[in-house]
Formats: sequence, C-alpha cells, structure tokens
Amino acid sequence: MTLTIPFDNSYARLPAHLYSRQAPVPVTAPVLLAFNDALAHELGIETDRDADELAAIFAGNRLPEGAAPLAQAYAGHQFGGFNPQLGDGRAILLGEVVDRAGNRRDIQIKGAGRTPYSRMGDGRAWLGPVLREYLLSEAMHAMGIPTTRALAAVATGEDVYRDTALPGATLARVAASHIRVGTFQYFAARQDIAALRALYDHTRARHFPDAGSPGEMLDQVIAAQADLVAAWMSVGFIHGVMNTDNTALSGETIDYGPAAFMDTYHPVTVYSSIDRHGRYSYDNQARVIVWNVAQLAGALVPLMPDQDAAIAAFTEMVNAMPDRVEAARLRRFAAKIGIAEMRDGDAALIDELLALMVAGSADFTNTFRDLAHGDARAHFPDPAGYDRWHARWQARIATERDAKMRMLAANPALIPRNHRVEAMIAAAVAGDMDPFHRLLSALSAPFDDPAPENRDLAAPPQPQEVVRETFCGT
Ligand code: AMP
Ligand code: MG
Repeated sequence: MTLTIPFDNSYARLPAHLYSRQAPVPVTAPVLLAFNDALAHELGIETDRDADELAAIFAGNRLPEGAAPLAQAYAGHQFGGFNPQLGDGRAILLGEVVDRAGNRRDIQIKGAGRTPYSRMGDGRAWLGPVLREYLLSEAMHAMGIPTTRALAAVATGEDVYRDTALPGATLARVAASHIRVGTFQYFAARQDIAALRALYDHTRARHFPDAGSPGEMLDQVIAAQADLVAAWMSVGFIHGVMNTDNTALSGETIDYGPAAFMDTYHPVTVYSSIDRHGRYSYDNQARVIVWNVAQLAGALVPLMPDQDAAIAAFTEMVNAMPDRVEAARLRRFAAKIGIAEMRDGDAALIDELLALMVAGSADFTNTFRDLAHGDARAHFPDPAGYDRWHARWQARIATERDAKMRMLAANPALIPRNHRVEAMIAAAVAGDMDPFHRLLSALSAPFDDPAPENRDLAAPPQPQEVVRETFCGT
C-alpha cells in the first residue's frame, strides 16, 4: 500500500455507545471520479495518486491503516418533528487526522453501505447528490464560507434504486467534526448524562477550547451559526434541509442534500422538493437557525448544576439570537454595497435595494456583481426607483474607502447555478465528467471576473433552463 493517512481517532476513544463500529461495505467496481489533491496535502495524506488505490480506499473497499471506522449516533428534529434515532445511516467515519495547520479533521465516506442506523435505507448514495455536494461544498469553501470539504468522489459500479436505477457513488468528505445539534439531542433525550458529558467535553476541547461552561459554548455556537447563516444569505445560498441533525457544532455548512443558490432574488425562495411549507426558505433560514440553537440549548440543560437557572440564562441567550443573526446579515450586506462600518440609515439602504430587486425579479448574483463594477441598472425593468436608490447609494459610499474592492470581494461573479449543476449531473450520468471538472475549476476563483471562456457560467438560466425543484437524493 502506498497511501498513508496519519490517523488519530479521538471519537473512537469516546464511550462505545456514542457510535457503532462499522466497516464500509465494499462495492463491485470502484472508479475514481475526482480527487482533491490540495486538500489531501493539507491533511498530510501521502499518496502516489494511484487512481485504483484511491478508488478502492474512498469507496470503502480497502481500509487504510490506522482507520477506526464507525457510524455516529444522533437524533434530530426533521421539519420540526423529533426523531430520537437517526445516526449515520449511509456514512462511515474512517477516522480523524490532525492536519498540517494543527486542526483535527474527520474523514468520512458517504454512501458507504448499511449501518445499524440505516432503518429502511440502503446505505448508498447515487452519483447526482455526490457530485452536487462535491461541487457546492468546494464552491462554498472558495467563497470563504465555513463548510465541509470534498476529498474524493468514486463511482461504485453498482446501481442504486430510487424511483429508478441510478449509478451509485461515494463521497469522501472532510469536516472539522460531524458533531451535530442532533448528536447532543440523542443523549439528552435518553437522559444519558454521562454520555452527554463525554460529548460535551469532546466538543469543547475540539471546537471551543476557551469555553469554560456549556453556557459559554452555547454563546460561541450562537456567534458561529449567526455568521454562517448570514454568509449563506449574502451569496443567495439556500441549504434546504436545516434539520437539527444537519446543523454542525463546528459552524461548518454540512449535508448539502437539495441545497441550491438562488438565481432570481425572492426572499421566500424554496427549491427542496420535500419542503412543502417553505420552512427552510431563503429568508426563514435566519429564524430556523435560532430554533435549532434553542434545541441545542435544551439538550445542554441536563449538564447544568442548577437547571432552572440554566433554563433562564439559555432562554435569554436564544431570545437575543435573532438580533445577532440580523446584525451579521446586515454586516455582510453592507459589505456587498461597499460599506465597512454601518451607520444609521444603512440598513434601510440595503433593504430598499432588496425590495427593488424583488420588484424587478433581479438576478441576485449578477445585480450585486454589476453594482460592484459601478452600475446594476440593466437589472431593473423600472429603472426610476433604482436611479433614486443609486444616487443615495453613491452619496453614501463617497465617504467609504476601498468600496469597490470590498464589493468585489463580497459579491461573487460565479456561483454554482442550478441549471449548470443539473446539466453537469446529467452529463456525468452519461459518462462525461468534463462539465464537472470545468465547473469545479471555474468556481475555485468565484470573486474573479470569469475568463472569456467561462463567461457563460455567470449567465442566469434561460426561461426553459430554470430549475424549480431540487431533491435530497436519499
Ligand atoms: P439527511 O436528510 O440526508 O440528512 O438524512 C437523514 C437521515 O436519513 C440520516 O440518519 C441519514 O443517515 C439517513 N439516510 C439518508 N439516506 C439514507 C440511505 N440511502 N440509507 C440509509 N440511511 C439514509
Ligand atoms: Mg444529514
């Protein structure tokens, strides 16, 4: 074996009922589709890049030395309803490495076969969601937004059956950890205080070393989640399934499922086919994250010596969270219009532009990008309102230094547009990985004006290309 991964598996050293030891289930004919060399280097993985060996390892057919494969237990609120028993039903944690920068990272294979948490599922994934997550998570990373990363995608050579037979695949992903709000809920719901404490100690050491108590950790989680959702909103990202099992304590974006970037701006946009009531619509994300954090707060209460006092204190923190999310959102949008330090009137300036964009069905990404270049008038069918706004905006940013630079760094020129992602998946299913690699490469520099050969990737969909619905792919 020529590949070495410097594993150091701390989760596997936790009490045994936090997870189930489970090896990946081998697949018939693994073929490497994509491998993230830069990330592998970051992780200290040594490989001579033998595609067959990488395929065998990241499909789960060959266990690398030092791996301690396991499926994590977790619970979660799905669309508001509590499920006490979810867990890794189609993902196996191979283990952890401490990367070159000294940060502990999980390496997990998604689609690795059945586990004790699979319930009715087959433990597998199909190519579409694997490539979608690969592309979207790497694009998010390139935009500077905290996210899990994609290390490898492998075709399994097996069909998986959803409504129809689809080509199977695995995704090797890397995360600061896979600890979720739902992981805490799992043990809190069982009143398993010893396990809850072990999980808390592990999480604190790993993500919040300077938090002195569960309350201090909660405060840091609130700050990280407020900023994460604000960052999502600033690039038009809609996660799609913000269940509590899909909210990571690390503050990284996790579980891309039906995730999508908006083309035309509208605050109630929903793509996920299963989100019938818009619980996880674009603008509801700001409210749902508070709800999710409230569930974490509830799960931390059993750790507190004085539970009544803890409930009072945590309630106050959760009640103050909407203002923190809104402040983070406004900071992000202020930067999008060139403002470094907000003043009175700036929030109104931001929200008036957004209202004009709704009225004009403006493309979210291109409106802000063109504004960064000076003028977005072409996006407004009734330019009179925009012209008035533009004059006020010009007057406001006349006093800002480096407004243009700030705007070019806050407003991506390229996002993974849904119609491109869908076309990329269709091509990959037909055996053509070129569109995937082209998108991946273009999206690695989202804040640069695209090279001439990539300008088409910045264009919104033609009416017949618009994607209205995305699917979890489970
Ligand atoms: P998700 O909506 O993808 O976050 O998944 C919710 C839950 O369903 C998690 O416990 C997953 O592990 C489980 N799950 C999703 N897809 C499958 C599958 N194909 N086989 C087994 N479990 C699955
Ligand atoms: Mg999930």
